[in-house]
Amino acid sequence: IVAAYVAKTPRSAALHARASGHLPSGIAHDSRHTDPYPIYTDRALGPRKWDTDGNELIDFYGGHGAHLLGHCDPAVIAAAQGQLARGTQFGSCHALEVEWAGLITQMVPCAERVRFTSSGTEATHMALRLARAFTGRRKIIRFQKHFHGWHDHMAFGVDGHFDGSPSPGVLPELAAEVVLLPPNDIDAVRRAFAEDDDIAAAILEPTGASTGMVPTGPDFLRALREACTARGAVLIFDEVVTGFRIAPGGAQQAMGVTPDLCTLAKIVAGGLPGGAVAGRKDILDWIDFEVSAARGREKIKHQGTYNANPVSAAAAIETLRRIRDTDACARATDAAQAMRHAFNQVLAEEGIPWAVYGDHSVIHFFTNPAGLDIDPLAWDANAQPAATFSADPRKTMLAKLYLALVVNGMDPKGPRGAILSATHGPAEIEAATEAWRRSLRMLKEE
Ligand code: PMP
Repeated sequence: IVAAYVAKTPRSAALHARASGHLPSGIAHDSRHTDPYPIYTDRALGPRKWDTDGNELIDFYGGHGAHLLGHCDPAVIAAAQGQLARGTQFGSCHALEVEWAGLITQMVPCAERVRFTSSGTEATHMALRLARAFTGRRKIIRFQKHFHGWHDHMAFGVDGHFDGSPSPGVLPELAAEVVLLPPNDIDAVRRAFAEDDDIAAAILEPTGASTGMVPTGPDFLRALREACTARGAVLIFDEVVTGFRIAPGGAQQAMGVTPDLCTLAKIVAGGLPGGAVAGRKDILDWIDFEVSAARGREKIKHQGTYNANPVSAAAAIETLRRIRDTDACARATDAAQAMRHAFNQVLAEEGIPWAVYGDHSVIHFFTNPAGLDIDPLAWDANAQPAATFSADPRKTMLAKLYLALVVNGMDPKGPRGAILSATHGPAEIEAATEAWRRSLRMLKEE
């Protein structure tokens, strides 16, 4: 498998050799780490991308989930290009940000007010600060394996730090302010609230850890909603991936549970850089000059050169309108449902005891040989951002699964799954299913 990958990708190999002289591990994002080297993309269109060697790949990562309308949607590109010619960065207010925020407040149930940021990480950072200021409390409940970006309050609880210990460079004092609980355990939440009256907020991915890899249902969300309300704590849905994807109003609309705040990025900015925190007016009032002055309190400070960038805003407005006015979310969901079914059929035919599962337009590969294990943390091996060749045979297998899928014309979400767009149709599902079958056979033959 490695030899086939290397044979197909000499230009990516050469680029990576150069990259390694400039960038740690030759990359810009941990989840792009690939052994022996990642592929370098040249261009992308709809559900496809082409690498620098000219290989055509069906794309199942969608810009880390940023593209519900597929790559280079013509109307989104036209909107962004129109704005590029008028100015990329004004350092001032502009009409597009007003329109953009208006769409968010119209579409997202909890959104009475919006503050734009430049990324999802910044959005969760601000959401936690808002919750602390609003409640006057210090601590945050979060759940193992739920990902909320890489800032200091969230840089643990995932990938080998399930005990809450901080990852390198993070202050233990900050980690100590975060109450890290097992996913989907409402009793643990109730106990934490009962034992500690200093909890400002609970934050979670509303469809479950790692975009639903460890799924969460509406029952847990409702119980968490009640627990937060009862204790006056702020409930934060991290909808960086789920927002405008699983429904036009995100998971909160699809699951019928409204948080106090939500964080948005990826699709919210039309596939360009950008993010937002949205939610109750009385909480976002902590960033408001006039309200803060009237209440005689100091407001939360918030700057950011690229907040509400006009090019992102132009792409975002076109994207959000289309999501609001068409069945784009439902089409992506239907495509993923068809793909899950087809992939599971291949597993059965090939006699492999794995499963493909997921909700909405997100697909997860469950590759534990034992089948579907109920211990959520058993998913850990699936969630390694870098399934590198190592002494661990399972990781080696996952790394090879990824390479085999690329060799067979599919660029998945690492070895962990796939994320679809409204441009993925029957032709892409069929080609991907064949790639899946051929890849599994290659793995068996290794
Ligand atoms: N929260 C979730 C649920 C995410 O999936 C991500 C990114 N994958 C983030 C936050 C961080 O967003 P960003 O990469 O824009 O900082």
